[in-house]
Amino acid sequence: MDTLAWMDVALQKAEESLKAGEVPVGCLFIYNNQIIATGNNTVNETCNATRHAEINCIDQVLKFCKEKCMDYKMVFRNLDVIVTVEPCIMCMSALLQLQVRSIVYGCANDRFGGCISVLEVPKFYDSKIIIQGNVKGEEAMRLLQNFYKGVNPNAPESKVKKGRNTKGTSSTENN
Ligand SMILES: [Zn+2]
Repeated sequence: MDTLAWMDVALQKAEESLKAGEVPVGCLFIYNNQIIATGNNTVNETCNATRHAEINCIDQVLKFCKEKCMDYKMVFRNLDVIVTVEPCIMCMSALLQLQVRSIVYGCANDRFGGCISVLEVPKFYDSKIIIQGNVKGEEAMRLLQNFYKGVNPNAPESKVKKGRNTKGTSSTENN
């Protein structure tokens, strides 16, 4: 699979998050061209403000490595992160400490972004990380806007749906 296809999978995770009432961010960790962790935000579910999609994926990788008796440091160093929104400063610091090799993200995170938007965290590390942004960024941003507007296009059928305009949801069918 290529980067765009991976991002589609991450966007699906973000949509699941939106349905669950969480900030819609989806994340995949790819190792050897395979997804070894998928995550979305579980901040509301866990009442834990640090349970971002990336942190949930990190925990899954540690579990994966333990089960397979693999060296987690080696796995993280060969890991590619696909995430629908620019990682926040906290997550960016965690990913840099684990020395993941690349990050591809969708839309910029103007409030908390740790790649470039608010703080350029990689500057504080001796890092060769490869970062690519704005991959399907508009789709990721639309999910965030739906969340913050309180509009959920994937919500179960509502009895008061009459006359609602649902334009803007059709592009997901064209991929
Ligand atoms: Zn984060």
